[in-house]
Amino acid sequence: MRFLFLPAGVRDEIEREARRGYPYEVCGLLLGHVDATRVDVRRTLLGRNIHSTPRTAFELDPASVLAALDGAKGLDVVGFFHSHPDRPAWPSAADDQGAWEGAVTVISAVDVHGACATRGFFFEAGGFHELLAR
Ligand SMILES: [Zn+2]
Repeated sequence: MRFLFLPAGVRDEIEREARRGYPYEVCGLLLGHVDATRVDVRRTLLGRNIHSTPRTAFELDPASVLAALDGAKGLDVVGFFHSHPDRPAWPSAADDQGAWEGAVTVISAVDVHGACATRGFFFEAGGFHELLAR
């Protein structure tokens, strides 16, 4: 069981991006640190969604990944964020398929009015586990 430390400024940035990209999924990388009890997200790096059906899935542009590794400046790439336009902030079947063991996933649900709900998950032992809000 882990706690998610997502500073308000980082959450705002993810939700702003989710609203900007509506009705398509937006995505990016999460930089910070992870240990056995907590996930600390310090920064995001916005990426480009190059999936062929971007309303319901995401695929991060590889150039964004490389840029993140370059710009990490002592932080680890701990996972990814993406949005769910008009769907709840829970991992989808596509998210299950694309998940990486040990990676953090932050999902921001966004609706047509711009309302957001954001949750974090940790993928471990083949499944998503919700991170507890600090
Ligand atoms: Zn998803």
